[in-house]
Amino acid sequence: MIGEQIVVGLGGNIDNPFTTLSSALDELGELATGEILVSSIYRSEPLGLAEAATDFANAVAQFECDLEPMVLLRHLQALEQKYGRKRRAGSAVDESHPSESSASEPRPYESRTLDLDIIAFGDRMIVESDLRVPHPRAFERLFVLLPLLEIDPGFRFADRIESLQQLVDQAPGMAIGKWQG
Ligand code: ATP
Ligand code: CA
Ligand code: CA
Repeated sequence: MIGEQIVVGLGGNIDNPFTTLSSALDELGELATGEILVSSIYRSEPLGLAEAATDFANAVAQFECDLEPMVLLRHLQALEQKYGRKRRAGSAVDESHPSESSASEPRPYESRTLDLDIIAFGDRMIVESDLRVPHPRAFERLFVLLPLLEIDPGFRFADRIESLQQLVDQAPGMAIGKWQG
């Protein structure tokens, strides 16, 4: 079987996130069966965090991979752990992860050293308790859309009719730009 095009979103906002993302991008390359396309690293303002927080570094990577989605997710979670991500005990994560329904209570996000999300997995649509693909909130996040536009302007989400540029135009505004120095 020909490997499918995978998009992974990276984010982090504590302990030198630029450096963390740079090495995590290298490690993602080891999961790829061929070339990996990597965006610039962006700096974005922290939104939706409970505590006062420092800016995020964000990037996306696109590559082919012959792992099944759940296996890829486990690899990504192992990488998050390796880079020191702590999940706060008792926080509303995992099983109670909110759906994309805007009626659900927004969950405060936590500062983290590294967050790796599967944004897209070929044209697959996956709805499982611990994995939803395309990532249900990526289409409205400039910190995913802008890096993706940079590396693959023709990209389309399997579950959206809009072009990437249209999604960028519709997304809620936020302070974001390429990371300088
Ligand atoms: P968000 O998903 O809104 O970006 P988050 O990344 O902070 O929030 P996490 O605490 O990292 O959320 O993840 C919560 C759970 O989301 C994970 O345990 C994982 O099982 C689940 N999950 C569902 N879909 C995906 C996906 N496409 N990529 C990564 N994790 C996912
Ligand atoms: Ca995330
Ligand atoms: Ca995540």
